[in-house]
Amino acid sequence: MKRVCVFCGSASGNAALYQDAVVDFADALVEQGLGLVYGGAHRGLMGVLADRVLARGGEVIGVIPQRLVELEVAHAGLTELIVVSGMHERKATMAARADAFVALPGGFGTLEELTEVVTWSQLGLHHKPCALFNVAGYFDAFLQFIEHMHATGFVREQHRGLLQVESDPHRLLERLQQ
Ligand code: AMP
Repeated sequence: MKRVCVFCGSASGNAALYQDAVVDFADALVEQGLGLVYGGAHRGLMGVLADRVLARGGEVIGVIPQRLVELEVAHAGLTELIVVSGMHERKATMAARADAFVALPGGFGTLEELTEVVTWSQLGLHHKPCALFNVAGYFDAFLQFIEHMHATGFVREQHRGLLQVESDPHRLLERLQQ
C-alpha cells in the first residue's frame, strides 16, 4: 500500500478535537510511509490534513474540480495538484491514485464520497479497503444506521463489515495494510 485516499470535511467542526484528531491521523500516515490523496482544498479539515502531512515531509496529491478552485481555496503547496473538470472525474481520479479509502469527520460531501467507494466495493468494482476513523464517536449514528439497513434486509450480511472502523489512527492504517 502506497497511498491512502482521505475524505473529510471542508469545514472544521465546532470543537478543536476534530482538528487534533486530523493532525494525529496525518502523523500516523507519514510515520507509516504512506502518501495522501485528497480533495485538494485548503479549507476546513481538508486543509489541516494536507498542511500537516506536508509539514512532516509527506507526499500529498490533491484533486479538485476547476469550479471549486476558488470556492474551496485550492491548496497551493501540494506535491501535486490535479485540476479536473467535475465532481465525477475528481472521485475517479482520487480512487485510481489510492490503495485504500478512509473517511474522517465531514458533511454530505464526505458521506457521499465514502458511500460511493463502499458501494463500488460491494459490487466488486474494486478491492481496496474502506475505513472510518471514528473520532470521538462521530460516526456512531451512521454505524447504527448501517445496522438498521442490515436488520431491515437492505444490506446483506457479507456487506455489513465492508467498512473497517477504528478510533486509533495507527491501528487503522495497520489494519488497512494487512
Ligand atoms: P463536506 O464533507 O460536505 O464538507 O465535503 C467534503 C468534500 O467533498 C468537499 O471538497 C466537497 O467538494 C466534496 N464533494 C461533495 N460532493 C462531492 C461529489 N459528488 N463528488 C466529489 N466530491 C464531492
